[in-house]
Amino acid sequence: MESSQTTVLSPFLAPPETLATLKKLQSATRVPPVGTIGYRVDATGAAHAGVPTPHWHLYVMQQNPFNCQCQWVDIPDKKGGFGGGNTPTGTTSVQPAAGGGHP
Ligand SMILES: [Zn+2]
Repeated sequence: MESSQTTVLSPFLAPPETLATLKKLQSATRVPPVGTIGYRVDATGAAHAGVPTPHWHLYVMQQNPFNCQCQWVDIPDKKGGFGGGNTPTGTTSVQPAAGGGHP
């Protein structure tokens, strides 16, 4: 006599500590979160658009929807992405690796 019972694969049964680790890794890749405005201060070097150093450049954290990679995207000078004096409030320092040698 054949059993009509089908094998039901157990749902995702990862131990809680694994889930916690995954969550931690996931959030680590999203720090800073998408939409964060970051600045890079050029303390020395060439003047940019006639503004001598120190001056700052702004970037926005964006995520590529195709590969989910986060990256700092340059904000154009004309859109407030560049200036002298104090860095704008609400902005955060970009990671050094995301900087660049652009004057
Ligand atoms: Zn510059």
